[in-house]
Amino acid sequence: MSSILTDHQKMYSNGRWVEAISGQYIEVMNPATGEVIGSVPAGDRPDAAAAIDAADKAFKPWAGKTPQERSDYLYKTYEKLVERADEIAAILTAEQGKPLQEAKGEVLFAAEYFRWYSEEAKRVYGETIPAPTPAKRLMVIRQPIGVVVAITPWNFPALMIARKIAPALAAGCPIVLKPAELTPLTAIAIFQIFEEVGFPAGVANLVTGVGSVLGPEFLENIKVKKITFTGSTAVGKYLLKGSADQMKKVSLELGGHAPFIVFDDADIDAAVEACIISKFRNAGQTCICSNRIFIQDPILGLFSEKLAEQVKKLKMGNGSAEGVDVGPLIDERALNKVHEHVQDAVAKGAKLVTGGSKWKADSLDGSFYLPTILRDVDDSMLICHEETFGPVAPLISFSTEEEVLEKANNSNYGLASYVFTNDLGRAFRVSEGLESGMVGVNDPLPTVAQSLFIGWKESGVGYEGGKYGMDQYLEMKYISMLLNG
Ligand code: ADP
Repeated sequence: MSSILTDHQKMYSNGRWVEAISGQYIEVMNPATGEVIGSVPAGDRPDAAAAIDAADKAFKPWAGKTPQERSDYLYKTYEKLVERADEIAAILTAEQGKPLQEAKGEVLFAAEYFRWYSEEAKRVYGETIPAPTPAKRLMVIRQPIGVVVAITPWNFPALMIARKIAPALAAGCPIVLKPAELTPLTAIAIFQIFEEVGFPAGVANLVTGVGSVLGPEFLENIKVKKITFTGSTAVGKYLLKGSADQMKKVSLELGGHAPFIVFDDADIDAAVEACIISKFRNAGQTCICSNRIFIQDPILGLFSEKLAEQVKKLKMGNGSAEGVDVGPLIDERALNKVHEHVQDAVAKGAKLVTGGSKWKADSLDGSFYLPTILRDVDDSMLICHEETFGPVAPLISFSTEEEVLEKANNSNYGLASYVFTNDLGRAFRVSEGLESGMVGVNDPLPTVAQSLFIGWKESGVGYEGGKYGMDQYLEMKYISMLLNG
């Protein structure tokens, strides 16, 4: 598997490793060092069309397998992902930058989705419905939707693939995966596992390439019945509009701008620790990471001091090095955006508690940004409205529940929110009042394979995870039977 980091790679279509028809490649960089670490085929529309054809041919036989048979393929995938977690984590860190331990955690988490959906494959239940006349029998059954295109982002190169592909395959849908062009090597490692597990040809296909080149094929090809996407809101809107012509089903997991609310009755040390996890994991490049940190007035000073103490201890560096907590940002563009947010906030009156600049180590040519804390942040600043996607913690003060709910809900996004309090009534009131799909109460890591992942407002359409995730790949069908005599 390690050869993935040295060779010209291939895509996987109809059970074979293939080059792009054009023979062109896209280089993959290590964001910590700036070095090229591999290359993948620059797939174009005909490559995507071939993979979609293969998936379409595989649909009926795959859907026709018994749930237990599909379950077995998924369970074997789970086992192999766990077995290879270290190898895949090294690839993931090399192309994405996150610390090796986080990368391994991600691979194991991805494996969990295969385990969970290996079970769920067996529970595609229908329903019988009491009829209005004695002569009728009514039932609702659920059937796989057909060929699914999954488009995934670079911030979780393994997890996002698993959360989409595992339920689709479990439901009986073949898939065509288009991973992010910045992190396609982890996808290749996962497809090597699919090959070893022996999925029938065409059930799982991988097309690498540039999103804007392949997008039109996914939208216009009539054989694609469903598009599931995680990425930017802008591309999500493009896919939603583009899918209207054929009424393709879509699931979109888009950006977030999570409020992280700490009340003065909370356990402050636990909230600080949670803030470090929520804000600095993956260098702040997660769609559910806290982007606006609301602290109740009486504890603002103490929280800020304690947070700064912890943030200063975070070790930056190449994610593959021992003991590193914060790796590089994905690229120069991301780095400049983060710096722009910080400069804008400072220019408008925010105080820099720590950090606030790009970081350079002698031996590394990557895109690093110092873990940063800003105080006195307010609504006039860019950081309060746009996703920063970087290691910057903006602290905003508030006094009452009503005030913080209004501020927290003042966003077009509605993905995750976090509330820290030891007051049970407040925990319920605030969780219920937040306009977001997910709320972590004293919990910085709410996402699990067993439960729902959902965005409200411009954060998404549809949902993933748990028993709910299967719905997105199944159509309901109503059958009414009139009995003879
Ligand atoms: P980011 O800005 O974080 O890179 P994107 O939304 O651009 O997020 O990318 C997420 C995924 O969407 C990637 O796999 C990317 O290749 C793909 N993508 C980008 N533009 C398009 C498009 N026009 N059509 C289809 N997929 C796209």
